Amino acid sequence: TKTIALMLGDGIVPSNTGEGYLARLVIRRCLRRLHMLKAEVPLSELVLMQVKYWFYDYPSLARNREYIARIVELEEKRYRSTLTRVSSTVPRLKRKTLNIDELVELYDSHGIPPEIIKEELRKYGVEVIVPPNFYEIVASRHAKPSSLKDLEKTKLPKDVARWATQFPETRRLFHEDPYVRRFKAKVLGVHGRYVVLDKTAFYPEGGGQLGDSGYIIVDNIKYRVVDTQKTGNVIVHILEHEVNDEILLNKTVEGIIDWQKRYRRMRHHTATHIFLGALRKVLGEHVWQAGAEKTEHKARLDVTHYELPSKDTIDQIEKLANTVIDEARPVRILYLPRNEAEKLYGFTLFQGGVPLEPTLRVVEIPGWDAEACFGTHVRNTCEVGAIKIVNVEKIADGVIRFEYVAGPVTSEYASGLESKLDNIATKFGGSRQDIELRVSSWFEQFNTLRELVRKYRELWLKNELELLKNKFVRIDSLEVLYYAPPVEDQEVIRRLIQLLARDRPNAVVLVLTPLSKDQTLFEISLGREASRIINAKNIIKDLARIFGNKVKGGGKKDHAMGRAALSSVELRKALDSILRNMLKQN
Ligand SMILES: [Zn+2]
Repeated sequence: TKTIALMLGDGIVPSNTGEGYLARLVIRRCLRRLHMLKAEVPLSELVLMQVKYWFYDYPSLARNREYIARIVELEEKRYRSTLTRVSSTVPRLKRKTLNIDELVELYDSHGIPPEIIKEELRKYGVEVIVPPNFYEIVASRHAKPSSLKDLEKTKLPKDVARWATQFPETRRLFHEDPYVRRFKAKVLGVHGRYVVLDKTAFYPEGGGQLGDSGYIIVDNIKYRVVDTQKTGNVIVHILEHEVNDEILLNKTVEGIIDWQKRYRRMRHHTATHIFLGALRKVLGEHVWQAGAEKTEHKARLDVTHYELPSKDTIDQIEKLANTVIDEARPVRILYLPRNEAEKLYGFTLFQGGVPLEPTLRVVEIPGWDAEACFGTHVRNTCEVGAIKIVNVEKIADGVIRFEYVAGPVTSEYASGLESKLDNIATKFGGSRQDIELRVSSWFEQFNTLRELVRKYRELWLKNELELLKNKFVRIDSLEVLYYAPPVEDQEVIRRLIQLLARDRPNAVVLVLTPLSKDQTLFEISLGREASRIINAKNIIKDLARIFGNKVKGGGKKDHAMGRAALSSVELRKALDSILRNMLKQN
């Protein structure tokens, strides 16, 4: 219980991967022990006792007390619902010998610990061997790839990345001044579509922000740059087409970046720093960035959190983020030695993974958020304009995805919603202004009509039953009715044939609905006595024997349905002779 308190106090959210999985594992083992001891005390109570005992030494325990209690309760609830599933799952396994993979699968997908399976299966005389290092095996299968590796990822082909290492570090104009859109630089190298300059304002993909596009101009000829990537400290511009290296090599070129796209990304990127700060304030300190992407269209932030936030909580987050925009706080860039930065801001700096450099580039919104970040940001939070959350979803256990738009994209988003609303309004024959009124009046009408239809169905059913009474034909001991429904109303037809078969124990009701001249749907329903003499499923089998692939269907012995590539007349003939045959054999 001390381990659980400390892990959760550090902000770990139980999940199915990495450290989150370890937390879940420890909690489940603990619950298992309690269960074996037949202890009635809730685990959260025990963990909170640890919090009370240790909070002087570990202040994070006191700060996150509520979160710790909430998580333990949630996990305990989950575990209990698992135990109720055991009784339905385990008996199915009694004829099998379970190997380690199956045990892990049962644990992962159904949450059933192997000790319980072992115990339950012993009742059936089946022995299960659980390896002593079972949980070690499970944990190792859920290990997350280190985030250090992710930082090294580059989209450049291997040979290009290798070629690029010969060049000195590219001067980063986009860091010196993120507002530079035009610049002059010297071409150091050309390799097919790939160009290296001595300095550049083109931002290379990184930290969830996409690489810049734009143009490189030389001798009045424009070369389209479609993407920018980085390998080590060298920045590589990717052209749309291959270029003869003599045209560019050692020339002084002018670079122009697609500013609108880039500026929107800067605003979405800065919005993400503001947003993460708001999430940590509203949801709690356990919120950690699990993934991020900033494009010109929107920003996406995946964070660790144990449940989908409510509408109210989402509104609160959005409001808080917009307050920080309104406060016009500066966005400062600091270059600090690693140790100093960690001392100042703590490990929450490393939201995007732990960088390897001794000097960190820290992006700070004073009093709100500080992260080690490579990206481009605006100078002041007010430049973000506004933030609107457009989507919140749970993408994995313990991971919540937020998508939001900023700046002019919020207005585009609103326009998009308005035109959707207009489309709906047109369908309802009104305008955006009176849509609510119209929809509710449509609903009223709809409900009235539905009630009316229900009454008509009852009436029709009664009449039809009365009419069909005299349409049954005797074949031997059976009373057979061929019926072609006059309306396509599955629900009411189904009830009709149920009633027909219920009231006549010897009834054989054959519903044939022609779809076209050689396509017929059919349904067979047998009364209680009739189903002792003949079998509906076998009727379909007989049809299939005669017509092969043309007939498809199935069902039970008193009710079956299918589809035949036959006219209803042909099908009726065939059914008639099958019935007579069946009776003869009886
Ligand atoms: Zn950033």
